[in-house]
Amino acid sequence: MPTQGINQLTSPITEVVGAKTADLFEKELGISSLGDLLRHYPRRYEQRGALTDLSSLEIGDHVTVQAQVRSFKNLRNKSKPGTRQEIVISDGTGQLTLMFFNQHWREKDLVVGRQGLFSGQISVFNNKRQLTHPDYELLDENSALNNSPIKTEDYVEALLPIYPATSKVQTWTIERAISAALVKLVDVPDPIEPEFKQAHQLIDLDQALRLIHHPANQIELDRAIERLKWDEALVLQILLAKEKHELEMWPAIPRLTKAGGLLESFDAALPFKLTAGQTEVAKTIETEMAAGHPMHRLLQGEVGSGKTVVALRAMLTVVDSGGQAALLAPTEVLANQHYRAITKLLGPLADRGKLGAHDEGTGVTLLTGSLNTAARRQALLDITTGQAGIVIGTHALLEDRVDFFDLGLVVIDEQHRFGVEQRATLVAKAGSERKPHVLVMTATPIPRTVAMTAFGALDISTLTELPAGRSPITTHVVLASEKPTHLARVWDRIVEEVASGHQAYIVVPRIASQEDKVSDKHSRPAIALEDLAPVLIEGPLSSVRVGVLHGQMAGLDKDDAMQLFTRGPAAPDGLDVLISTTVIEVGVDVPNATMMVIMDADRFGISQLHQLRGRVGRGQAPGLCILVTEAPPFSKARERLAAVAATTDGFELAALDLEQRGEGDVLGRAQSGLRSGLKLVSVLKDEAILTEARKVAIEIVAKDPDLVKHNALKLTLDNLIASAQAEYVKKS
Ligand code: ADP
Ligand code: MG
Repeated sequence: MPTQGINQLTSPITEVVGAKTADLFEKELGISSLGDLLRHYPRRYEQRGALTDLSSLEIGDHVTVQAQVRSFKNLRNKSKPGTRQEIVISDGTGQLTLMFFNQHWREKDLVVGRQGLFSGQISVFNNKRQLTHPDYELLDENSALNNSPIKTEDYVEALLPIYPATSKVQTWTIERAISAALVKLVDVPDPIEPEFKQAHQLIDLDQALRLIHHPANQIELDRAIERLKWDEALVLQILLAKEKHELEMWPAIPRLTKAGGLLESFDAALPFKLTAGQTEVAKTIETEMAAGHPMHRLLQGEVGSGKTVVALRAMLTVVDSGGQAALLAPTEVLANQHYRAITKLLGPLADRGKLGAHDEGTGVTLLTGSLNTAARRQALLDITTGQAGIVIGTHALLEDRVDFFDLGLVVIDEQHRFGVEQRATLVAKAGSERKPHVLVMTATPIPRTVAMTAFGALDISTLTELPAGRSPITTHVVLASEKPTHLARVWDRIVEEVASGHQAYIVVPRIASQEDKVSDKHSRPAIALEDLAPVLIEGPLSSVRVGVLHGQMAGLDKDDAMQLFTRGPAAPDGLDVLISTTVIEVGVDVPNATMMVIMDADRFGISQLHQLRGRVGRGQAPGLCILVTEAPPFSKARERLAAVAATTDGFELAALDLEQRGEGDVLGRAQSGLRSGLKLVSVLKDEAILTEARKVAIEIVAKDPDLVKHNALKLTLDNLIASAQAEYVKKS
């Protein structure tokens, strides 16, 4: 007898399979512990005896079908020596041929009338679909699978589990291992407290594991899934709560606002009143930064909701208290813009070190990849000496040689453009003894539950309202191929917009047309900036001043183009229209721009379109956004565009985007390892479970951070971390 007890789920699968199979399971499916095995849930269930619809199988698919043997033919090859076996299997209507070579002994197995599971890749021979040398497992009359160790009355009725399998590990091999594991399983420690189970009417873990693999009916299956979802949600939230708890244990220097300081002067000079949302978030941040532990806050908000001002005020607080604040931006265009906006807002306060500067002033330093050597040396020096209270930069800030005097606050703008490691690199620059306060911002609003799951260690603030006086953006879809005259009308409209003193963006999906590869999805390559710009400049837009901007331009040229566009029609050298790639997607703020035309709009994602569109309608005048497309009617792409045109609610669009792209994508980037932990829980659909689990997790961790009184929970967590790490190692 193997030892049975608390370590059951962490024991290796060699408890139930041989070394060779264990090896295969590990390599093919990443399964090494009994817990991994039992959490390898069926992909679908088949009613026993309900044969697979064979007509729906596609050529090339790797399939497992349930079917009945109809005929067996032992044939002698005509042109070469040897025999072949042609077996026809059927679901009652459709047919499929199994083909073997020189294996006449299969006649003993594949008796006419027998049912089984057959697995292989669908190919075509003589116009007939077939499986060549398939693997199979015959079902006998009394049990689901031949060698299944469980043969009870119930099981005859059971749903047949079909597992995610590979060509080397068949679903029935998995089934057999799982059945063997379930036989050995006793007293499996349950991570969920009895009172909680009772309150939520949840079944025991042991029972749930049995039922999810071998449900007698849908009701049993549902109960198993419900219970196991709680495990996933709870373990994940415990993990996040622990992370948060650990962060909160770190010391940080309290940063307090100072009477008569920079922030006060800034507020006095601010040309507008903060929105209620901005004020509230500002207060939260103020309180948190005044504490002796680091703030970790995510500020998400609708495009144009005014996140930058909130961040800047936090930065000024830190400067007032003697520290430095760093603002990390994903593009040079954006870093430059922040630098200009901040120095402009601060006016003489930003001139420390210069003649005639304000007493309370500070230095504002920009650090990007395109600074020349002298400027970079000066910037690095100002950062090290503390001369620069505010440091704004791109990835250049992350380099080793950037050394802060006293980094008190890290602000990450458009955080979805950065990885977790990059954030950590900047945070580490505050030194090893303490952590800086951290504020990350995102303009890609994501639903609460997703944010909670992806950024669980962060507290979340959300700005939903736009500053007063904004005019709405109207969005239209223009069908370039169906109604070509409408496109001509679009260019006229740009000229009219410019005539009334405003500016416009034209966005294209790519820069050059060199590699004219057409993907399967599209009938022609995407419109390129280099092709479209000359046509417009010489044609319909010849009467206005047009500039171009794209990511492959040199840093200074990019900055020039952006500055000229920012200066706008009032300046003698200003630009009216900017033809650009998605480099303007994030953060760019030119309130005088009122119109945006997005070419081949169907090639952009929903959130991206919403971001782009957010560049207009930032001033007093109403915004207009034109989505130009040649996507066919009733296509998914057209649906997407219609959705973007129908609402300007970023949260609604983000949810739709998630639904279309799949959750894995979104969570994947944020918490790649943890993904393996969420098999049943959907971050979109299981909001109630995730929210409640978070509450419970925070309570547990607050009282028992090392989970000494929650042994089962700790084991489950360790197992999840171990598999996540294994997966990570495999991928890197
Ligand atoms: P986002 O949240 O998309 O980053 P920004 O911070 O770029 O938005 O703000 C968009 C514009 O709104 C900026 O020009 C900013 O100066 C302005 N703004 C911010 N807050 C207010 C406010 N309370 N009232 C009026 N304008 C504001
Ligand atoms: Mg912004």
